[in-house]
Amino acid sequence: MSHYSRRGFLKLGASVGVTLTATFGSTRLVRAEWSDEAAGRIEAFPLDSVRLTPGIFREQADINERFLDSLVVDRLLHSFRINAGIPSTATPYKGWEDPTCELRGHFSGGHYLSAVALASATSGNSTLKAHGDKLVAGLAQCQKKIGSGYLSAFPLDLFENLVQGKPAWAPFYTYHKIMAGLVDMHQFAGNTDALQIAEGMASWGAEFMGGFGIDQRQRMLRNEYGGMSEVLVSLAAITKKDRYLGAARLFEQPGFLDPLAERRDELQGLHANTHVAKIIGAARTYEVTGDCRYREIAEYFLAEVLTARNYVIGNTSLDEYWKTPPNHLNGTLAWANAECCVAYNLMKLQRHVFSWTGDARWMDQYERTLFNCRLGTQNAQGLKQYFFPLASGCYRAYNSPDESFWCCTGTGAEEFAKFTDTIYFRRGRDIFVNQFIASTCDWKEEGLVLEQVTQFPREQGTTLKIKTSHPALRTIHVRIPGWTTENAQVKINGRPLDAMADPGSYLAIRKIWADGDTIAISLPMVLHQEPLLGDDSISAVLYGPLVLAADLGAGPTDRPMKVIHGRGTEPKDPPAPLPLPKTAVPPSIGTGQWVQVDSPSGLRFTVDGEGAKYQLMPMYQIADQKYSVYWQMQSASKLS
Ligand SMILES: [Zn+2]
Repeated sequence: MSHYSRRGFLKLGASVGVTLTATFGSTRLVRAEWSDEAAGRIEAFPLDSVRLTPGIFREQADINERFLDSLVVDRLLHSFRINAGIPSTATPYKGWEDPTCELRGHFSGGHYLSAVALASATSGNSTLKAHGDKLVAGLAQCQKKIGSGYLSAFPLDLFENLVQGKPAWAPFYTYHKIMAGLVDMHQFAGNTDALQIAEGMASWGAEFMGGFGIDQRQRMLRNEYGGMSEVLVSLAAITKKDRYLGAARLFEQPGFLDPLAERRDELQGLHANTHVAKIIGAARTYEVTGDCRYREIAEYFLAEVLTARNYVIGNTSLDEYWKTPPNHLNGTLAWANAECCVAYNLMKLQRHVFSWTGDARWMDQYERTLFNCRLGTQNAQGLKQYFFPLASGCYRAYNSPDESFWCCTGTGAEEFAKFTDTIYFRRGRDIFVNQFIASTCDWKEEGLVLEQVTQFPREQGTTLKIKTSHPALRTIHVRIPGWTTENAQVKINGRPLDAMADPGSYLAIRKIWADGDTIAISLPMVLHQEPLLGDDSISAVLYGPLVLAADLGAGPTDRPMKVIHGRGTEPKDPPAPLPLPKTAVPPSIGTGQWVQVDSPSGLRFTVDGEGAKYQLMPMYQIADQKYSVYWQMQSASKLS
């Protein structure tokens, strides 16, 4: 989240269009073949079709739901009511929801609504749905009292400041969150009132922005405006009303989009999260209008950020910004790396681009971010991280239960409510298995249930079980991730296939699937390393998709250093970075020669470093320890 006052990743060679065939009984394997004509044909299953079964994701989703349930609707509504002139005696929340904060309402009427809508759809949590319905009813009263369609927890003054070029934190950013929450309550929780309220807000926003000439609008759009274009395009798609597409165009910035359309990286100096949201708007615009320029912008942007600006955990940014030229992350390891909202939005963008292309590299990258930069960013109380420190010797810090309400509290609450949304996609009668997460997919129209049984990543593979009352010919596409080896293997009903897709692609298995059929997929993990962009002497180690972190001992036990109160997003005195642990080997030495796998299922590793021995574990398992993700590959004295 920006403030007005300051403010190897993956194999690009993942081949598309290459055909691999083999035969196995009635099974015919064909590597997915895609073209532009396939755009939009792969889609996610409805959220209520997929359920998590016991495992690490279900555990984390349950924690998040308990956190959401702990919040009180009348307290969330307080500032909205006061702003509308409706009395409220509730105690308002603090931090970014404090009645004096210019972002108030972003979480309480926005992220919270999205999160409970998602949770009610993905887990059937009726209590959270009831909280969401009550909140929507309260917001409806506020909007009606104001009378113009405008709905916010703050008065119009902040928008006036925007017009006059005076300081205003981010009024449209907040406005977007509320609209998005309402649209989600309509789409995922079936609340029809929520759609009406969102339409009223859209009309006010369109009238307000439409009242200015293009130059004035462009000046105003220098202020962070979140996903205004995305939500307006989505509203157009839901309501079939073209006027919302016109409204979305009012939130378009040629100065930002044009260089991307020409495949130029001019991102240095820009605020990361502000701009990823704009690209999601471009992606939705392509999907709804078919204008390929927006698709080209989105695809170029995503590939550029992931190849030229990403850390090994699958996220980007320093102090929330892109501060360096492409491919130069040297010198940027710090406490304030990788704002968690950016990971949330990049993953959202990856889902869009994957749905157009079917290209496995986007799901490889999604997995990288999911396991390393989302899993692990919530503690046992449901509190979330803001930054993801990558300097050595840092530790995780979290928002307080009721005194923070950062943007990352909000996107985290949404993320942990929607783990099911990307596991399976479909096209026609075909299924895509994108992620290896214990779950079931109930495709009612087809009379088919796909159960995924796995302890991944403790288990190096997964098993899919088919339950159906009427056998049918269909293709099941299984991602063979780029990190696995040529020893990956698939067995159908216990019999191994004699052919396999390359790592970094989808294996397409076409046959008449009958009740009781099984697909067992073995995906061997190996150690590999990935240098920091711009400095080959600094590397991170991965085991399969998992970033391994060195355990550097206990972190602080005092709560102020671990749980951040008030509006700040870092501890008051974050620790000074320690020197990176040293491996005493040059970068040319292969990973397997300096990292020892102690327990593949326990995910424990050892490094005999220079002057010390280190225990390593997956980054997502680091809770309270100090850690280092990166290694100095040779002693500093040997470096020029
Ligand atoms: Zn954030």
